Amino acid sequence: MNLSQGRPYLAIPGPSAMPDRVLAAMHRPAPNIYEGDLVTLTERVAADLKRVALSTQHVAIYIANGHGLWEAAIANLFSRGDRALSLATGRFGVNWALHAGDMGVEAEMIDFGLKSPVDPARVEAALRADTERRIKVVLLTHVDTATGVKNDVPAVRAAIDAAGHPALLAVDCIASLGCDEFRFDDWGVDIMVAASQKGLMVPPGVGFVWFSERARRATPAPDLRTPYWDWTPRAFPEAFYQYFGGTAPTHHLFGLSESLKMILDEEGLDHVWARHETLARAVWAAFDAWGAGGDITLNIADPAARGHSVTAARIGAGGAGRLRKWCETEAGVTLGIGLGMAEPGTPQEGDFLRVAHMGHVNAHMTLGALAVMETGMRALAIPHGDGALNAATAVCAGR
Ligand SMILES: *Cc1c(COP(=O)(O)O)cnc(C)c1O
Repeated sequence: MNLSQGRPYLAIPGPSAMPDRVLAAMHRPAPNIYEGDLVTLTERVAADLKRVALSTQHVAIYIANGHGLWEAAIANLFSRGDRALSLATGRFGVNWALHAGDMGVEAEMIDFGLKSPVDPARVEAALRADTERRIKVVLLTHVDTATGVKNDVPAVRAAIDAAGHPALLAVDCIASLGCDEFRFDDWGVDIMVAASQKGLMVPPGVGFVWFSERARRATPAPDLRTPYWDWTPRAFPEAFYQYFGGTAPTHHLFGLSESLKMILDEEGLDHVWARHETLARAVWAAFDAWGAGGDITLNIADPAARGHSVTAARIGAGGAGRLRKWCETEAGVTLGIGLGMAEPGTPQEGDFLRVAHMGHVNAHMTLGALAVMETGMRALAIPHGDGALNAATAVCAGR
């Protein structure tokens, strides 16, 4: 006997939990892609994409996942041999830099390790040391989905400004947009990338590059900018197909229109941020209690440096791997694997997991996932402290 029948819950950091309303909006025949409703809907989606990023500037839409958006940003910003400064706080920051390197960019990396956020003082020092002003762009990950760390975007902007350096600031918000507070204009961000399948609650398949007027002017004709990835026609289309460099991602647009309506016009962005924060704090409270009686720790010690969409944790002696398996097969909850926290193929790999609380999630989903995890710890005799569910419910009750 197991308890996995019923609606499964994929509690991994993308694809996130999607509203049935979004899926239902996609379930329809193909629309006219030349004129009519789809054109109007796309104009509204583009405007709403700016609203969700709190940007009044430009946005380009791509049929791509997050890796495609990294490439889109790189293609529009750099010529071969240009220099980037990449700030790595986990797997995703490292990989964006490697991607840039593979495309011919000289990507200098400052690696802040797996347990702490970017130190703005080191960024300022690196930019001051760049006396020839060769660094064109600083690449930053807002929330690194592997480590769960959240970086302070305004502090990095302030470091660039304090160094008096002209570098543009590019931010990967793939794991944070629609979950954690983010303000494109107010925070002085120049480029930001995000995809459909995380905080925006739509299946994987479309993604976006927001860019400032300053970024547009600073990059008139980089030689990595190929016709398909060029953000110009996508952000300033003269014909409808130019939004997408070809056929529109018709059904994703219907889904996105619905999700943006839910986020912006129904729940409200401030409430969406507050909900993610409360659910995140409930998860952290549970881990703190479990950790008081077992080899269980959150990856990021400082709560202010933790993202609100995903929590990375360690359960020693392979407990994380065993618990993940139990939760999925016995209780219908799939937790995220640890990513980049241990060498692949070593026993330590089984010590790490991630719990997502990202997208269309509410109290019963997150509290339910925590209750399932504790049930699994009991069933597997993984030592853990008491009172985790009490602590989590107290967070949700107290808000
Ligand atoms: C998920 C994610 C990516 C990669 O996105 P894919 O859609 O898997 O290509 C990149 N950066 C961050 C921060 C992410 O969370």
